[in-house]
Amino acid sequence: MLKFLLGFKWQKSQAHLLLLSKFLNSHTTKDYEKTVIPWRQLLGEHPKKAINRFFKEGMLNLADLENSLAWRYRVPDLKKMLKERNLPISGNKSKLISRLIESDPNGMKEYISGLKILICSEKGGQVANDYLTMEKEKRLNFEQQVLDALQNRNFKEASLLRSSFMAKQLFPGTIGIDWQDPKSVSAITTYDISALEIIFTSNPKILKNINKEWMEYLRLKAAMGYLGAGLSSSVLPPNLETESVMNIATAARMIIFHARNQVHLAQFREFGCKSVEISTANDGVTCEACQKIGERKYRIDKVPELPYEKCTSDTGCRCTFLPVIE
Ligand SMILES: [Zn+2]
Repeated sequence: MLKFLLGFKWQKSQAHLLLLSKFLNSHTTKDYEKTVIPWRQLLGEHPKKAINRFFKEGMLNLADLENSLAWRYRVPDLKKMLKERNLPISGNKSKLISRLIESDPNGMKEYISGLKILICSEKGGQVANDYLTMEKEKRLNFEQQVLDALQNRNFKEASLLRSSFMAKQLFPGTIGIDWQDPKSVSAITTYDISALEIIFTSNPKILKNINKEWMEYLRLKAAMGYLGAGLSSSVLPPNLETESVMNIATAARMIIFHARNQVHLAQFREFGCKSVEISTANDGVTCEACQKIGERKYRIDKVPELPYEKCTSDTGCRCTFLPVIE
């Protein structure tokens, strides 16, 4: 690898720092050969190679008995081992482990013999924790900027903030979106602006019983959720939790679904589509009201609003529009 010849510094590689932070809890080098995360691609080298380098540089140590057992066994396994030795099974995982070590140190050593289990050294732990703290700060900063943009109703800026944040993520999450590609980002921004405009102006029928004073908060929460940012409870209006008309998260989700469905309808119209179908989630928890409107054809200007106002599901209506191709 050329980059290693050119004085590669893993301390500057997000992927390497993230990998190191995984060792704040004990792991073996083999754990990284089978994960869904494409480590090799992210690191630009085999994870084993990176881990060996961490070890050589004193970032990782061999785990002690306690941490090795913590890696090897789950709580139910530990309880079973305690029962076999007629020992009490109360307490958290680390209590269970110390009890086992105290009563049977040699037996415990045998359980993990031959395994190479690693954990961050003090130095490695410092580097890993600094990285995690910095990532957390970056996220909080992003969320605050998005919140400011939304409060100023600057939807384009809010959307662009999300795109540039996502472009810097190791795992952007959303499959099929290339956050580095200006064309794809521009299409997303257009969609986002339409959706955010609806989120902040419309009154979905399904929320007709929600206190109007809370709508501003719910709209903000919905918009933040839509953009993949959180919303700290400090902006929560008083007593919001006490109202049980609909759970806050569900209500906010209904605002997002409403906006998405409205944008989709507008797009179908633009493509000259005259009729739509309602697709219900149809998974056993779909309520009767939604079942009634589902899997039927409607003229696009006569279709019921979604989320469906008569939906009785606790998790809210999950129906969506599908275009009918004639
Ligand atoms: Zn329903």
